[in-house]
Amino acid sequence: MVKTFRYDTSKQWYKGNTHIHSIASDGGKSFKELAELYSSAGYNFLFRTDHWINSNAENDMEQYPLLWLDGMELDGQDHTGAYFHVVCLGRLTGIRNEAGFEAGLHSAQQQGALIILAHPHWSGNSLEDCVRWPFNGVEVYNHVCHWLNGKSNGLVHWDAALNHNPDVLAFSADDTHLRPGHPGWNGGWIMVNAGECTMPAIIAAIRGGNFYSSCGPEIQSMRFDGDELHITTSPVRFARIVGPGFRGDRKGSFDGHLITNFSFPVLTEWQYTYLEIEDEQGRRAWTNNLLK
Ligand SMILES: [Zn+2]
Ligand SMILES: [Zn+2]
Repeated sequence: MVKTFRYDTSKQWYKGNTHIHSIASDGGKSFKELAELYSSAGYNFLFRTDHWINSNAENDMEQYPLLWLDGMELDGQDHTGAYFHVVCLGRLTGIRNEAGFEAGLHSAQQQGALIILAHPHWSGNSLEDCVRWPFNGVEVYNHVCHWLNGKSNGLVHWDAALNHNPDVLAFSADDTHLRPGHPGWNGGWIMVNAGECTMPAIIAAIRGGNFYSSCGPEIQSMRFDGDELHITTSPVRFARIVGPGFRGDRKGSFDGHLITNFSFPVLTEWQYTYLEIEDEQGRRAWTNNLLK
């Protein structure tokens, strides 16, 4: 099978967050307050992912300084007893908490939502849990879980999902609550490359994986010439190509020297290959699987 390079970074970068709670569920801020706050930090779009709320941003006539998109967070146990939180991106109707987790997940899939396994470390998910349901993505970083008990990192769970399906996408997200006891925001986000910041363009770019996840560093451009990947970033200490198991390659040093332009050969025989960069403060960013 011929694999093609996933990314086209020739359009605009748009900053967004795929996991946000408002006063519609257990968050402390209104959509207006959230939009103003996030807009001030350079965000272009946000997803409404209140717990079990069928959001309807399209019918919201309020004016906001950024684009609101629809979603929902489900939670509960599946038939094996495993506990899940799942973020669904897309306009959903008729999903009810009372019907239970599996019914909600099934309905979201039927309605064409993008299904993301949220904060698997915090939920206590096993690696088998990551492949029991056909997740489109896994949260590799969740900012509120970092604050709550440090269980923010979903890289091992994403790795398990990629070994099963190399198209599973990585998401870094805030899981914003902004109420007493949950103060964090702007700690994890995605950068989408799209022609315009509209619902169809952003959703299509996310579905295609034409975005990266970050807790700090920026990827400015990526180009694949058939053998090598050429990357331009904000100043970073390390850059790593990551494949299954121990496979990988790296650039950078511990001597304080920072890099912004580098290249890697990309091995098409690996089940998956992604790029990870790390800045001086240890904050990381991740691409999706580079090939598809
Ligand atoms: Zn959650
Ligand atoms: Zn949440």
